Amino acid sequence: MSRLDSAIRRLEAQRSCLDAAVTLIEAESVAGPVMELGLGNGRTYDHIREALPEREIFVFERKVAAHPDCIPDQEHLFLGDVFETLPLALARFDGMAALIHADIGSGDEAANAKLAAGLAPYLGRLLAPGGILVSDQNIPIAGAIDLALPESVRPGRYHMRRRP
Ligand code: SAM
Repeated sequence: MSRLDSAIRRLEAQRSCLDAAVTLIEAESVAGPVMELGLGNGRTYDHIREALPEREIFVFERKVAAHPDCIPDQEHLFLGDVFETLPLALARFDGMAALIHADIGSGDEAANAKLAAGLAPYLGRLLAPGGILVSDQNIPIAGAIDLALPESVRPGRYHMRRRP
């Protein structure tokens, strides 16, 4: 598979998983805001805000470099390293997030495993009951349930977990 094929599949997996999570939280009326970890150029942020126009979306990013149309206002931006900003978010949103999308991994597997282990306790606490985590990395949240991925998504390419 070419790198282009791989990039396309990754983006398709992201979209399919986000759409599946949106459908679930809307169908089951899981209330609460959305947390987007990693603004990047704002593609998934833009997709989520289109899909969930009534929800507040809080974005975590250490250096904003997104398309100008895809930059949240200051009230919805946690600027800085997530390990500095997640504790601040927890103080406000403990147990409240209906959807978290985390897309801050890199090509370094060892670093990703360390990152995922570090994120797990924060994201586990941020999630509302019934809330869903969609992530590029396998984030081992204690007590969370693995959700079946959409059929088009190869296992391991993206991840979906839910707080019971
Ligand atoms: N989902 C985005 C999109 O659709 O455009 C792409 C996200 S990009 C792959 C990852 C982003 O995460 C980068 O903008 C990077 O600056 C940010 N990031 C990575 N590690 C971070 C950290 N520890 N704290 C805050 N932001 C981080």
